Amino acid sequence: MEGEKLSAVRIAVREAPFRQFLGRREPSIVEFPPWGDGKSLVVEQNEFHFDHAFPSTVGQDEMYQTLILPLVEKFLQGYQCTALAYGQTGTGKSYSMGMASPDKKPEHLGVLPRCLGDILDHVSAKQENQEDTTQVYASFIEIYNEKAYDLLGSQPHVPTVASRCQSCTCLPLSSQKDLQTLLQLGTRNRRVRPTNLNASSSRSHAVVTIHARNSTFHSRMNVVDLAGSEGVRRTGNEGVARQEGVNINLGLLSINKVVMSMAAGHSVIPYRDSVLTTVLQESLTAQSFLTFLACISPHRCDLSETLSTLRFGTSAKKLRLAPMQVAR
Ligand code: ADP
Ligand code: MG
Repeated sequence: MEGEKLSAVRIAVREAPFRQFLGRREPSIVEFPPWGDGKSLVVEQNEFHFDHAFPSTVGQDEMYQTLILPLVEKFLQGYQCTALAYGQTGTGKSYSMGMASPDKKPEHLGVLPRCLGDILDHVSAKQENQEDTTQVYASFIEIYNEKAYDLLGSQPHVPTVASRCQSCTCLPLSSQKDLQTLLQLGTRNRRVRPTNLNASSSRSHAVVTIHARNSTFHSRMNVVDLAGSEGVRRTGNEGVARQEGVNINLGLLSINKVVMSMAAGHSVIPYRDSVLTTVLQESLTAQSFLTFLACISPHRCDLSETLSTLRFGTSAKKLRLAPMQVAR
């Protein structure tokens, strides 16, 4: 990445493979035109342009190398970084972010284990060459119905104060095994509510934060797996579940608002509008790096969700983390 400046906010789209249970073979509604240069896609004559557009044939390694590795490089330089997957349930958010269970073939490994691998390689190389005391550790937080839960803590089902999540329980990470132990422990403590779309879909946001800290710096890599963004009516939920639907989108919209008010140079940034932005507060500053991965479905029956996911991505394209230049 040397010599190349990384944009502080980047947006990518990833098309999921066909879901088996729909059975029928149908062409994907998502087209990747050859003139698109790997950045454009067309859905029902609507053209979208992002930093990267990954068809379903793109594997985990390519997605990681293209989209996430530049972020890891910033993390290793001491910056606060966030990779955030959003989109409808079943479109590969958890798969992409590597939140799922460990017994996977290497080619299926997602963002988290790949990040940790590169971070640990870097730290151990530095430790061999010189006196370095960098510690690598991580926390795992769930946000459910606008409440934060410390999934690694002794009381994972009791909400914690979101602004104190920076001091949530952390476990040291010195190997992939440590990460898998952490994910298993946290996942066991998550709340799962079945919806019509996916029996084991999670209705909550998951935030795993890898920290690297020594006497001179403390950087964070937040890997965020957002709850499904599908509309409330479609998932057939009512009552408490309906309230969840509202809160699910609140987090995403609040990130937009926070970044927009920073760009506009406002003195008060609305971090407290949502628990997600409160939890991520220290990583949403003018010196941070933020990457969105919009996960979309190839199925025609999901068209309206796909379009709204892409439209959110288009609105996020306007985001700038550094304050705007004042026009002379
Ligand atoms: P979400 O978290 O968005 O609800 P998941 O990550 O659980 O979706 O993905 C749904 C299913 O599809 C999982 O079984 C997952 O392993 C599979 N899947 C998603 N994306 C891919 C992909 N690019 N390649 C292979 N399998 C995938
Ligand atoms: Mg998921």
